[in-house]
Amino acid sequence: MSTIFEKIISGELSSEKVFESETLIAIKDINPQAPVHLLIIPKKAYPSLQEVPKEDLSIMREIIDVSQALAKKFEVADNYRLLTNIGIKAGQSVFHLHFHLIGGKELGPMA
Ligand code: 5GP
Repeated sequence: MSTIFEKIISGELSSEKVFESETLIAIKDINPQAPVHLLIIPKKAYPSLQEVPKEDLSIMREIIDVSQALAKKFEVADNYRLLTNIGIKAGQSVFHLHFHLIGGKELGPMA
């Protein structure tokens, strides 16, 4: 079943894109929880981090690389959170792997 992120990746739905490569896109979250709230999304659809097979783990290197660059670009490199939710009880609502890059305010402790 295709998710909203697949429609964004294909261009069927619009988004505020801040980065794109062959393998990843990064967009602004539609419902930001902080002044900087980006979503880093692999183009290949994995339902969550838990389903990324060992042979595809190189995507994690790219995600870290892009996160570091975007944190600098959005001037939050010294204070930000990078997270992915896995499963409904953890808060996942879109079942296509994505990482939230959140910063630009006091974030406080994790719940
Ligand atoms: P999750 O809850 O799965 O960890 O995160 C999904 C995120 O996707 C949420 O923060 C939500 O605001 C964001 N989101 C949902 N639909 C859209 C959309 O159509 N466009 C954008 N840019 N973000 C979306």
